[in-house]
Amino acid sequence: MSVKLQTPIDYLKGVGPNRADLLRKELGIHTYQDLINLFPNRYIDRTQYYKINQLQRSNADVQIIGKITTFKEVAQKRGKRLVATFQDDTGTMELVWFRGQKWIRDSLKLNKPYVIFGKINWFSGKFNMPHPDVEGLDEHKENLRSVMQPVYPSTEKLSNRGITNRVVSKIMQQLFLETGKRFTETLSENLLTELKLISKSEALFNVHFPMSQELLSKAQFRLKFEELFYIQLQLIIKNLVHKSKIKGFPFEKVGSYFNTFFKAHLPFELTNAQKRVLKEIRADMGSNAQMNRLLQGDVGSGKTIVALMSMLIALDNGFQACLMAPTEILSVQHYNGLLEQCNKLNIRIGKLTGSTKTSERKKIHERLESGDLQILIGTHALLEDKVKFKNLGLAIIDEQHRFGVAQRSKLWKKNTSPPHILVMTATPIPRTLAMSVYGDLDISIIDELPPGRQSIKTVHRYDKNRLNVFKFIRDEITKGRQIYIVYPLIQENEKMDYKDLMDGYESISRDFPLPDYQISIVHGKMKPADKDYEMQRFIKGETQIMVATTVIEVGVNVPNASVMIIESAERFGLSQLHQLRGRVGRGAEQSYCILMTGHKLSNDSKTRLETMVKTSDGFEIAEVDLRLRGPGDIMGTQQSGVLNLKIADIIKDNDILKLARHHAKNMLKNDPTLASASNKVVLDTYIALGKYKNIWNYIS
Ligand code: ADP
Ligand code: MG
Repeated sequence: MSVKLQTPIDYLKGVGPNRADLLRKELGIHTYQDLINLFPNRYIDRTQYYKINQLQRSNADVQIIGKITTFKEVAQKRGKRLVATFQDDTGTMELVWFRGQKWIRDSLKLNKPYVIFGKINWFSGKFNMPHPDVEGLDEHKENLRSVMQPVYPSTEKLSNRGITNRVVSKIMQQLFLETGKRFTETLSENLLTELKLISKSEALFNVHFPMSQELLSKAQFRLKFEELFYIQLQLIIKNLVHKSKIKGFPFEKVGSYFNTFFKAHLPFELTNAQKRVLKEIRADMGSNAQMNRLLQGDVGSGKTIVALMSMLIALDNGFQACLMAPTEILSVQHYNGLLEQCNKLNIRIGKLTGSTKTSERKKIHERLESGDLQILIGTHALLEDKVKFKNLGLAIIDEQHRFGVAQRSKLWKKNTSPPHILVMTATPIPRTLAMSVYGDLDISIIDELPPGRQSIKTVHRYDKNRLNVFKFIRDEITKGRQIYIVYPLIQENEKMDYKDLMDGYESISRDFPLPDYQISIVHGKMKPADKDYEMQRFIKGETQIMVATTVIEVGVNVPNASVMIIESAERFGLSQLHQLRGRVGRGAEQSYCILMTGHKLSNDSKTRLETMVKTSDGFEIAEVDLRLRGPGDIMGTQQSGVLNLKIADIIKDNDILKLARHHAKNMLKNDPTLASASNKVVLDTYIALGKYKNIWNYIS
């Protein structure tokens, strides 16, 4: 059976070389197996017929019985279109073809009863249906075997070349005929019984030709479960292999650095979430396996102290540690913050960034290799080959979304044996997605903000209210607060954006003149030293207003800054808005975020702004973001299988995902190598699937 499913699609009756070629190119269907796994996007109720006078301007799929009364060709800019008048006893509408016109004219007859099916458009006072599925009424009655008619994924090219949904359905029928509707089972007996799943054969049949709504649901559930189950199995196996193969340095003790800091220098009581996460990190680093952990925590949740205390454990065990941040500003800020703590503990700490002078750099290299430097903070300058450690035990990467996977693995090679790795991110990745994308990393979450934080009041204001906003800024400055004003900067539009920034800066300078007001400006075109200087002036409170592009997005910490104004907020993505807002609300004062926009807003922009005003929960925001943009734009998903899901939906099928993960975990717990007879089918399927690279690619 399985041999047969590898048969090239060309061999299927009714396909032929031309169609095979199109199916390969447009849908990636090479074999029978691929075709079987072309699952319908949705189903339509084909028991329902519309009359032309019932049509609504909703762009929905409808089916109508009627006849074609005339054909005409209409010249247009390029080529011509074929337009047919379609009529039933209530009115007329138009059918339109932009391609394949000769074939249509030859095969469709005037005044013959047809059933047409497709999406309707409203165009210059009339309904029309472009490229409808047309079927003779007699034939239609014969063919109608399932009330839920599947709608298959398609492309413009496919429908233009006559491979309509109906054709795909026919090919699918042929495939079921040739294979005798019997398919090898791919889940174990135990799973089928325990979860009351229907068999593979029954599921495949009913997903393509549903016999009832109930059977369709069962079929979808079973196939979604299977898909997610094998992805989870893959991720968990990878994680297990990693742990058994890659020995880490066991940090057996917690020594005087950690204890002294904890007893004498801890600036505040840790939140429960921080304590829990530290425990998880300690347990990881204390075991024989190398730690590979993702620490997720919303902006301001206090990841830095967790990083520091983790590094102290490394030092207590005689190892070095490093912390890498994506920007100069952030590295400097981390360095300054940690320097203070390290001085109290007599820890030797260094800083290495792009602007570190050559002579200084050399010294740092030497001190690292001799083991004199215990902690190194820096940007990706840290990754250069020249940077060698004596014994790096722990590498921490802050704000992970700016670094790629390749960089993570580069850190590994800094030692004979890879250091423990802690990746910290403030981009809340929805749990669902994290589970699928980072299934090979262990995940810790700080889901609690330090006490006493007031929530940030967020409002949306139109440009015409600018004067009021400026008055508000003035009042806040009078109270001693500091203000951020952020401008968008995107590469495609860089020139214009810089102009907006400079114009904005000028107008703010006019409204907030010297000597009463001091303004800083920071953007990507400035030299790092100048940037740092301006940033430091703001951090020290010498300036009251910081005008900037998104360079300040990540991690910068100025507790006295209480107002974040985001210009052209409609142009920012949700996660960026959330990151920016996180720059305020870090002190005890009530903080504000003001989203400035022009008057015209797209629906998506409106949703983003409303979401920001409504909630400050990073995970909730991430879920909305995921819904608006799809998983494709979320960091890390490109490398993982979640984008290539064939039937499951990473957002909607969250519960099935959890179930699948649970069962995959359980199975591997009881039978780590899937060696038992009862799991043989799972092992076989797993191995066979390994050949499908697209699905089984995962983050490395
Ligand atoms: P992020 O997770 O965004 O990196 P930081 O580590 O910069 O957050 O912490 C944000 C602010 O909260 C810092 O000023 C830090 O000193 C403070 N902070 C962190 N943890 C606590 C805590 N448990 N109690 C009080 N303040 C804390
Ligand atoms: Mg941070």
